[in-house]
Amino acid sequence: MRKDDCIFCKIANGEILSKTLHEDEKFRVILDLGPATRGHALILPKDHASNLYELPDDIAANVLILARNMASQMTQKLNCDGFNLVQNNGKAAGQTVNHFHMHLIPRYLSDGQNINWISSEPSAKELEEVKRQITE
Ligand code: 5GP
Ligand code: ZN
Repeated sequence: MRKDDCIFCKIANGEILSKTLHEDEKFRVILDLGPATRGHALILPKDHASNLYELPDDIAANVLILARNMASQMTQKLNCDGFNLVQNNGKAAGQTVNHFHMHLIPRYLSDGQNINWISSEPSAKELEEVKRQITE
C-alpha cells in the first residue's frame, strides 16, 4: 500500500520522477540524489514498509535477488572495483527516510569514501553475555 505523506512511495510509484535504473511489479531502483559514489542507487519497494522490521516476506525474499542482479549489472557497466549494500533502520543507524530502501553503492579504489566502523575488543565474557541476551 502507498502512504500519502511518504516521498519514497511517490517516487516508487512514479508520481515523482526519478532517474530509474530498473522497474518491475514490486520495485523501482533509482539513482540517489546525494550519492556517496558514482552510481549510488536505491532499491525501493512499491508498497510502503517503514523499515526492515515491517518488510513482508515476499519483498524481503526478493530484495536480495534484485540487489545481486543490480550489483552485477552495475559492476559490469560502471567498471567499479567493489560494491557495498547498505540498509539503515532507525535514526541511530542513519535512516533519514522512513520507507524501507537498500543502498547499492559501487566502490572505486580511489573514491575516498569510508563506509566502515571502528572495531572494539570485547572480552570473551562480554561476547558470551551478548550471545545469551540475543538467543535466550
Ligand atoms: P537513509 O539515510 O534513509 O538510509 O538514505 C536516504 C537516502 O535517500 C539518502 O542517501 C538521500 O541522498 C536519498 N534521498 C533523499 N531524498 C531523495 C529524493 O527525493 N530522491 C532521491 N533519488 N534520493 C533521495
Ligand atoms: Zn512509503
